[in-house]
Amino acid sequence: MTNVRDQIAAIMDQRQLTGRYAELVKQAVADPSVQAWLTAHKDELADDAVTRGAAKIYEYVTARDGKGEDQALPNSGYMPQLVVSNRLIDIMYEPTPAKIAAAQVAHQASLITSVNMPKAIRTAALEDYDRTGRAAALLAATRFTDAMDEAPQAFHRGLYLTGPFGVGKTYLLGAIANHLADRGIASTMVHFPSFALEIKNAINDHTTEDKLDRLKKVPVLMLDDIGAESYSAWMRDEVLGVLLQYRMQEELPTLFTSNKTMAELTDFLSGKEAGKDLEEVRARRIMARIRFLADEIHVGGQDRRNGPR
Ligand code: ADP
Ligand code: MG
Repeated sequence: MTNVRDQIAAIMDQRQLTGRYAELVKQAVADPSVQAWLTAHKDELADDAVTRGAAKIYEYVTARDGKGEDQALPNSGYMPQLVVSNRLIDIMYEPTPAKIAAAQVAHQASLITSVNMPKAIRTAALEDYDRTGRAAALLAATRFTDAMDEAPQAFHRGLYLTGPFGVGKTYLLGAIANHLADRGIASTMVHFPSFALEIKNAINDHTTEDKLDRLKKVPVLMLDDIGAESYSAWMRDEVLGVLLQYRMQEELPTLFTSNKTMAELTDFLSGKEAGKDLEEVRARRIMARIRFLADEIHVGGQDRRNGPR
């Protein structure tokens, strides 16, 4: 490999470059980082590599400096890189570290589908979980995530987190979802009262089946605030019942939160609270599915909404 002056002379000579473009190519070849790269790779390059690769070198410098046709290139998340290809000079576009980091964040976020869930849970983490009064809940959560980490495809019983408002039941679900996403396991969190409303409205445009179907089959399902409002027999048996039956048969991990204990939910689903006819058999059928899918865990501790943080 010859010196810069000779390299440029050879290019001009062979390519008959003139005017402004010739000037720019000269500058590009003389660019210190281009020269450094040429020196570092001189043994891998053909003798005429610089002459034949002049256009590539020019493209590299303009792309690197954001002056090429694609002005936004340095900000697009890709940076050009000179590479040796068949003993000649070529360019590869590599994602920048910022681009890679952003893609990872986006990928992780894409693993959690959340329907009507509070934004705060996006940053929920098991490591940050305040365990005062909630040690049992944290232990159960960790046991579940450990089992999932070990065998992501297998069935693991989920949690039925019960306790008063504000103790962090939803937060713990979010922390579990984030933990799983870190390991590439997708989960779907659904605020059940909103979902119930949505599915009721879907009757009009005949998309009930579709909506329910999608939820049935997700790898990990988290139903938040189950039993928060009363259900019609249809909602209980044809929506919730069908959903849980499928999860049970297919052995798909499913988690719940509720302000009601399992015993309270049983009465609630049979209509005792609302003063309806006893429909205990049907309520018990639902409860059997919930019990199959999840262990009841009482979450205590202070109300984090009002109490001191
Ligand atoms: P629940 O679902 O039991 O009613 P939430 O999960 O909504 O309670 O928690 C109530 C509030 O406290 C939320 O704003 C939540 O983000 C916050 N929170 C709950 N647990 C924690 C925790 N361990 N660390 C920090 N914030 C928490
Ligand atoms: Mg909640």
